[in-house]
Amino acid sequence: MTVQIIRSKKELRAKIKQWHMQSLVVGMIPTMGALHHGHMSLVKETQTLVDKTVVSIFVNPKQFGPNEDFSKYPRQESLDIEKLNAANVDLLYAPNVEEMYPDGFLTNVSVTKITEELCAKSRPGHFDGVTTVVTKLLLQCLPDIVIFGEKDFQQYTVLKKMVKDLDIPTKVLKGKLIRDEDGLATSSRNIYLSPEERQIALEIPKTLKKLTEDIKNNILPLQQLLNNATQYLLNCGFKEVQYLEVRESESLNSVTEKITVPSRILIAAVVGKTRLIDNMPINSQ
Ligand code: AMP
Repeated sequence: MTVQIIRSKKELRAKIKQWHMQSLVVGMIPTMGALHHGHMSLVKETQTLVDKTVVSIFVNPKQFGPNEDFSKYPRQESLDIEKLNAANVDLLYAPNVEEMYPDGFLTNVSVTKITEELCAKSRPGHFDGVTTVVTKLLLQCLPDIVIFGEKDFQQYTVLKKMVKDLDIPTKVLKGKLIRDEDGLATSSRNIYLSPEERQIALEIPKTLKKLTEDIKNNILPLQQLLNNATQYLLNCGFKEVQYLEVRESESLNSVTEKITVPSRILIAAVVGKTRLIDNMPINSQ
């Protein structure tokens, strides 16, 4: 199948309206492109629930800080289109920056509290960029279902809350976290890693796995386990461990001692110039 490519919100609206008039269920997978099997797994999960699948590709300038990798973020649209064709995706929505943010654009969508910690500490303004663009994408497309990957667990939680708080009539799904064969969480940014850096990066999933066991077995106080793991990662060659924390999965509230509700370990760490994030459930989702 050849994916239909649409670049304007007007055409997108018309297409989705046509599908909705035929009572077809539409699912959306927002991405920044450089598609990998993490993205394609979200496509597959969505396709089991909908009649029509829309993938959006938009590298959103508003979610990158001034010293981040916006200009060198991988862009490979023709390769992405091949993958969408192979996966039988119905529509690619790929607007340009002017279509998304025309001259004079002044609005910001902001979720409070849960956007003030974890990734926000090292990426100020990042979540406002994400919530603003995802609000626009959802209002432009009005899908019945949208899926976000649990790889970006804080982002998923923020967007789920935003959709609920703003009464956006779209059901939010959480897509399974996909890892490469060696265990590293699949990411468009993994191509930045040299072979040596990748070896160091692999300590993230290994450490998270060991931590989940050690926490469950209660071998030391939680904070001590986290401190030891942070020190271990720094010794392995990470330049920085921006956070390594346990949070309640639903609320993202901090867990500092006993785990009483489903919780996750979340991490952001820098190897070389590449910032990596990952997370793992401790006791179910
Ligand atoms: P991105 O293109 O990085 O903005 O990601 C687009 C969507 O794909 C987001 O919902 C991500 O959480 C999701 N995603 C990225 N990597 C993975 C992965 N390894 N497993 C599952 N979902 C992912």
